[in-house]
Amino acid sequence: MTADPSRPGAFAGVYQPLPAPVYRLEYQQLLAAGALVDRAGRPVSGAPCPTCDWLVDTATCPGSLPCPRCSVKAEQRCIRPSGHAADRFHTGRVRAAEAQDRAREEAGDPTLLAPWPEHPTPNERLLP
Ligand SMILES: [Zn+2]
Ligand SMILES: [Zn+2]
Repeated sequence: MTADPSRPGAFAGVYQPLPAPVYRLEYQQLLAAGALVDRAGRPVSGAPCPTCDWLVDTATCPGSLPCPRCSVKAEQRCIRPSGHAADRFHTGRVRAAEAQDRAREEAGDPTLLAPWPEHPTPNERLLP
């Protein structure tokens, strides 16, 4: 892995202290144990996310944004047309969170999860 730290947004060189997990459950356990670090080498909390059923893993939680579809505010669960809480976030809200993370990535945000030693951005590859 070569990176030029002088380039804006370039990766500064902190990797996870562990090999990349293969399964999502394994990743969840590492997070919950506080074993993972951000790009500045600081521990990632891994605490339960206040707005979804996942853990705080430095990625932008869709629940931290308002929903463009059902118009709920940040911190609120998406609602179905019936007014009941939806099981998951609306796609537009998830896409908005992804767009925010891409912008953070491009800006070289050091609070993002550090890459794994084997491959830089593997979390999409985790097996269920
Ligand atoms: Zn969340
Ligand atoms: Zn929604």
